[in-house]
Amino acid sequence: MIELNLPRLHLAQLPTPLEEAPRLSAALGGPRIFFKRDDLTGVGLGGNKARKLEFLMGRATSGEFDTLVVCGGFQSNLARIAAAMGNRLGLKVVLVLGGEPGESRSPVGNLLLDHLYGATVHLVDTVPRWDFGTTVEDVAADLRRKGSRPLVLPLGGSGPEGIAAYVKATEELLAQLRVLGARPSHLYVAVGSGGTYAGLSLGALDGGAPYRVMGISVSRTREYLLQQLPLISSHAAEALRLPRCPTEADLDIEDAYVGSGYGVLTPGCRDAIQLVASTEGVLLDPVYSGKTMHALIDHVRTGRITADETVVFLHTGGWPALFAYDPVSLGIGTVSAAQGGPQ
Ligand SMILES: *Cc1c(COP(=O)(O)O)cnc(C)c1O
Repeated sequence: MIELNLPRLHLAQLPTPLEEAPRLSAALGGPRIFFKRDDLTGVGLGGNKARKLEFLMGRATSGEFDTLVVCGGFQSNLARIAAAMGNRLGLKVVLVLGGEPGESRSPVGNLLLDHLYGATVHLVDTVPRWDFGTTVEDVAADLRRKGSRPLVLPLGGSGPEGIAAYVKATEELLAQLRVLGARPSHLYVAVGSGGTYAGLSLGALDGGAPYRVMGISVSRTREYLLQQLPLISSHAAEALRLPRCPTEADLDIEDAYVGSGYGVLTPGCRDAIQLVASTEGVLLDPVYSGKTMHALIDHVRTGRITADETVVFLHTGGWPALFAYDPVSLGIGTVSAAQGGPQ
């Protein structure tokens, strides 16, 4: 057991189930596959950000703050869950959501929920996507001028607190694997801001995990991530007083499944979403878990993962974003009014 001296609130539904996916394995003629269901963390419709926010909210409710400032994309899962949790804790929630000009800002999917939760929402142009310039700090400064005490969360919640959450999640996973007597060779996970991956790789080193953590980028290049992940990991290891820290040799990162960009559906992602929904009744999302499952499927089909292995797929959630996508892009045929659809 790793003792982390960080305040944490127990808000998420934990432990999340570790479920076998035999029909998916059979459909692929592939390995034994377990889903670690972090899409079922409960609060605010769940996802990996609920774990990170347990630690971030520990800080937010220290007495120093009364407002959360959260930045992300228009379909940010962090923003959606932070808005729900903030309400439960009596914190005001201000969202600064950015995207490239022309990107849909319709109040659908996560953005619909942000509004229902009553968050203050600022929609801004960011070019390139994750460059908020000084916008977030400006919003926080304005709140301070008006007498609020804001806590600005890092992008993706990926500071030491968010990373700590996945060090602890690793303990939970390893205990479940021990009960099952399973020794997976790989743990597949999506990589956005990288905090989840960093926590999982720190946790794997400290807990002597049997698997390598396979990170599938959904936006950044592999080169960028191989530079960034050791930096954020060592910063977190220092803050959390963990003895060991992954080096580049410990990192397995792929960027071949991004397609034309963050949040843009690829055929492989669409097929992965359909396959998992139709074999296991589990919903993946178009931004993160669908692309990660595409990678796993591709690795099985190309023989990189063989049928005698066991793998764990960390389902990080995100499926509320499905409702922001055009059905046709998800491979669902058009139903025109003339064919009897809703008028
Ligand atoms: C944020 C997010 C991720 C990626 O986590 P990072 O820690 O930012 O790398 C994966 N899946 C979903 C659904 C997310 O919302």
